[in-house]
This record gives sequence, C-alpha cells and structure tokens, in this order.
Amino acid sequence: MGLLSEGSPLSWEETKKLSDHVRKHGVIQFINLYKRLRDRQGDVLKWGDEVEYILVKFDDDAKTAKLSLRAMEILRILNEKENEDPDNVKSLWRPEYGAYMLEGTPGKPYGGLLAHFNVVEANMRYRRQEATKLLHSNEVLMSLTVFPRVGAPDFTDPLTHPTPNTGASRSLFFPDEAIYPGHPRFKTLTRNIRERRREKVAINIPIYRDESVPLLFKEDFTSKGDDGSSKVAKDNCIYMDAMGFGMGCCCLQLTFQACNIEEARTLYDQLTPLCPIMLALTAASPFYRGYISDVDCRWSVISSSVDCRTQEERGLKPLKENKFKISKSRYDSIDSYLSRQGEKYNDVPLTYDDEIYKQLLENGIDHLLAQHIAHLFIRDSVSLFSEKVHQNDLEDTDHFENIQSTNWQTMRFKPPPPNSSIGWRVEFRPCEVQITDFENAAIVCFTVLLTRVILSYKLNLLIPISKVDQNMIRAQKRNAVKVEKFWFRHDITSDIKSDNTQSEFTINEIINGKNGIFPGLVPLVNSYLANMNVDADTHCTIQRYLKLIQKRASGELLTTAAWLRKEVTLHPEYKHDAVITQRINYDLLRKIHSIVSNDISCPELLGQCVSSKTTDTIPAAVAKAEKCSATNC
Ligand code: ADP
Ligand code: MG
Ligand code: MG
Ligand code: MG
Ligand code: MG
Repeated sequence: MGLLSEGSPLSWEETKKLSDHVRKHGVIQFINLYKRLRDRQGDVLKWGDEVEYILVKFDDDAKTAKLSLRAMEILRILNEKENEDPDNVKSLWRPEYGAYMLEGTPGKPYGGLLAHFNVVEANMRYRRQEATKLLHSNEVLMSLTVFPRVGAPDFTDPLTHPTPNTGASRSLFFPDEAIYPGHPRFKTLTRNIRERRREKVAINIPIYRDESVPLLFKEDFTSKGDDGSSKVAKDNCIYMDAMGFGMGCCCLQLTFQACNIEEARTLYDQLTPLCPIMLALTAASPFYRGYISDVDCRWSVISSSVDCRTQEERGLKPLKENKFKISKSRYDSIDSYLSRQGEKYNDVPLTYDDEIYKQLLENGIDHLLAQHIAHLFIRDSVSLFSEKVHQNDLEDTDHFENIQSTNWQTMRFKPPPPNSSIGWRVEFRPCEVQITDFENAAIVCFTVLLTRVILSYKLNLLIPISKVDQNMIRAQKRNAVKVEKFWFRHDITSDIKSDNTQSEFTINEIINGKNGIFPGLVPLVNSYLANMNVDADTHCTIQRYLKLIQKRASGELLTTAAWLRKEVTLHPEYKHDAVITQRINYDLLRKIHSIVSNDISCPELLGQCVSSKTTDTIPAAVAKAEKCSATNC
C-alpha cells in the first residue's frame, strides 16, 4: 500500500485542518523533484512483482478454515534477514491491510535479460516456502484474491467480534482486530475515510441468482445493531460496510522502470488499455461475505471500500462545503493519458484544481503531466503523522507521496525516490492474484513481455479513456472472458485516431488474434521472441506461460473465478442459495492447498503441463551469452 511513514497518526479533525498544507507542500515537492529528475536518462529496464497472500488456519476436526491473524508475528521474523543484510536477501516482506495478510516481492528487481523469466516462478516458490516455514502446522499461506467468508460469522482465528459502535471501521461484520495492528496507517486510513465521508463506506455487489435465492434477497441487520445499514444496503445485493472487504483482498502488481520520463509516460499510457483485459483474464474473486456474487473481480468492491467522497462530492447534494463533484473513488481506473500520443484519447472531463494546475505549468511542467498531478491532488490526505507535518520541500517528498500513494489507480506513475539509484517507473495494478506460483509467474512474464513488444515495435494500443472505463465495468462481470466484448485497438501500428481504429473483441480475439483483423497479443509476443536469442530452458518456461494465457483466453481452461464458482456450486452441501458454509469453505480451501502443493492436479484450471524448469538463479553462462548477444560483442 505504498509508503509507510512511521509516527503518531493525527485525528481526522487535525488531518482535515492540514489538508491544504499537505497539498500545498506536496505540489511544491513534486515541482522540485521534477526539476531535479526530469532529465534523468539511461536507466535500464528493471521490473519486479508484488504478490499478496493470506494466512489460513484449518481445523480438520471442526472442518473449518479461518483467517489467521498472525501476519504481524510472521512478518517480524521474515523481516529479520532484510534488517541484517538488506542487499542480499531473496525476498522482501511488507505488511498489508489485513492482520492476516503479507506482501512479498523479490529481493531485488529483475533486469532486461530474457533468462530472468526463468527465475520468477522459483522466486515466488521460495517466498511461499520461506513464509510457510514459520507457520503452525495447520496454517497455510495462500495467494487467494478473496477469502470466501470474510465478514461472515466466525471467520477469524482467534475468534473476534465486530464493534459497530466503536473503533475504526464501525462495521457490522469486519472486526478491527482483522486490520493489521503493527502499523497505525491502516486503522487511521479506515477511520479517516469513514469520517471524511461522514458515513460508513457502502459496498453493494449483486448476489448470484441461483434457484433457491429468494426472489427478493434482503438481509435483516437489526440483530447486529443496525446503524442505518439497512437504508444503504441495496436489494438483491451482498452488502458490505468496511474498508477491509476491499483492501483485505489480495492482488498481483508489477512495477517497471523506464529509461527516462518519456518512456515511462509511454508505458503508462500503453498499459492502460490492457488493465481491463488483464483484470478479466485474471478474474479470481466471485465470493463476498460468505455468498456467491454475480461478479468475478474485486475491483468495484475495493473501489467502494475506500470511497471517501462526501454526498456532495458524489453528486447526491448540491456543492456547499466541498469544492468538487468527483466522478470516481480514489481507488479506480485512471482518468487521463500522460504521453503526447495519448492526449487525443483523453475524452473524459478531468476534475482538477486550477490553481495547482497553473502553478505546475508556471514551473515548466507540461499540460498533460500538470493535469495528471492536479487531478491526483483533488483528494485530501487521509493519513497524516505528526512527525511528518513539517518538511524540507527541497529534499522530502512525503507530502507528495501521501496524496500519490492514496490514489489507488489501475496504473501508477512513480517518480524516482529521493537520493536513490531508482529511475522513473510505472506500476501495473489491475491483476487479481492466482492460487499457484505457476499462474502468477505466467501473468507476470506475459505482461513484462508485452511491454517489450510495445516498446520495441512502437505499438499503439490507445483507445479513448471513456472506452477503457466501459471495459473496466465489463471485465468484472461474471464469466467476462467468455461472454463479454471489449473495446480494443486493431490498428496498432498507426497513430491515427478514428472510430475505425478500435472495435469490440472477445478476450480470445485480443489474446489469440482475429483472422485478418488483429494478430493477437500472444502471437505478437511470439514474433518478438523469434528474433531474440533465448536459452532452451527459458524458452520452454515462457512457452508454458503463454500457453496458459492463451487457453484461459480461449476458454479451454477456466479462469480462477469460474473454477471457484464451479467448486462451490458442485459441493454436496451447497443448497443453490448462494451461501458458502463453513464446510464448503473448508473443503474448497483444502482443495486449493492440495493443488498448490501438487498433491492433486487440476487440468481444467492449469492445463496438463505444470512442471517447470524455473531456477533460483540465472546460470552464469546463460547470463553471459545473453548479455553478449544483446550488445553484439
Ligand atoms: P509499492 O507497494 O509502492 O507498489 P513495493 O516496494 O512494494 O512498492 O514494490 C515495488 C516493486 O518494484 C517490487 O516488485 C520491486 O522488486 C520492484 N522494484 C524495485 N526497484 C525497482 C526499480 N528500480 N525498477 C523497477 N522495479 C523495481
Ligand atoms: Mg500491496
Ligand atoms: Mg508493495
Ligand atoms: Mg503497495
Ligand atoms: Mg504496489
């Protein structure tokens, strides 16, 4: 979740009073860093993944699986190696929102060699084993986007109870103990988002209409101490009321370093139309609060779970106290492209503060970047620490990062951190995490390869932002990979903008191609690889990953969401009422664990060939050969 400042959090009232201060200094800090770093050149391709995990505790007698709230204990031990020798660890571990969550990244980013693709999965496996070693015998680390029974009765270990009248979330379902306790940021964000909004967040996700779901599905919250929830809970929806329902989900993210700011802006734009496509392809979250929902992805849940906009800002009341009507939550898809090529596709009206925009222009920042930053800065700080209020704007960037890191969008444009060797980067944030390292490595390698193809062939995937927004909605629908169509550009080698450059395609057509109209992303990757010198093992690994992507896209293999749905609806205890009981949950998670441990196979999800030649390190000879062929020595 971005920057983790240390210190004592201020109350919402205090934070609110300082919001103009944070904005003012945040913008100055950006201007200063921009002046210092805009001409930075010559960084090389580096990239790394972030995988989020949950800790599950099984009780094989009671047949239950619950979220174990021990992440902080585990993390403390996992961080010891890094604290002792930060430059020589194979993994880095960070806290995440849930007291049951961990985030792991490789110890160092990967570089431009193709042979790095052969290390990704081994490193993910290493991380899984490293954390698993620290668990109790009946605990399991899982890369599962959503725990099916989050917020359902008795979902944590130890048992905890929600506190609707006190604490950070005031949720009827999600106890504060399930929020990561080791850093004040998480509870502070929870409280401040709720207080800024002046009511609890409200998340309504349509329930899956199975035959025994009542015609009018409407829950009664009075026994839980209803606090107005019934008013905002919508009919035929699974209602959720806390940040944890969204931020307590796991995802898979990727960060790329570009050679300079221009390339970073290009990558930011070119990856944007791929966000909904990759969201649909990685769909892995059909369950919420113990129910089967009618969506396959977490995106709208997480977006609503941190929606701090007031009623005025949401357009429900005329503006009086607030400055802007704002069309999206601070967690949502991006609203504007950043490169000159992207400018003509910015067709969504952008809300921003004119003063800030002008100030950025006066300081030599161009229109596109200025409006991007000014748009991020329509938000208030929702977490401020007393030690960080007064800063040296020439050196510090905390106020900038404060706003930047709480704009949780599909893409993030990351400037170089102060005093570091790190360059301009972009982060690709839509993907849902898959249950196995094999799948996650496949998604990561495919996406990294796409960036190589886009940059080397100078492809243009841009479509109007409004169409990307439409695609985001389609991507989350149940079974989107099979039944939805997505706006996509087929004229990818031209710069011309016309209504004929894009049309609606299935995911299969986008990934595998449509005869005579679009070559397909995987065939493009393959033609790029055909011109590269790649060692046999890496080639084999990459081909297995591309096959998985192709088969998921064509429907030959199930998406994670489709497979999860199938497992629950075919369970002998399932009553066609969209309810995931403790027993169904237990059997499902046990099965997932057996698949991940290779005790059973799951060809409908993974295909036949899941064995891997992935290795911990690149053999020296391979690295040398590749470097030589890259430099033609
Ligand atoms: P955040 O949570 O803010 O997105 P993290 O530090 O958790 O950031 O993860 C950043 C990712 O970027 C990791 O996968 C890491 O390996 C990768 N990374 C680190 N340094 C670089 C770099 N110079 N260029 C590209 N990626 C990098
Ligand atoms: Mg994270
Ligand atoms: Mg991170
Ligand atoms: Mg993060
Ligand atoms: Mg990240």
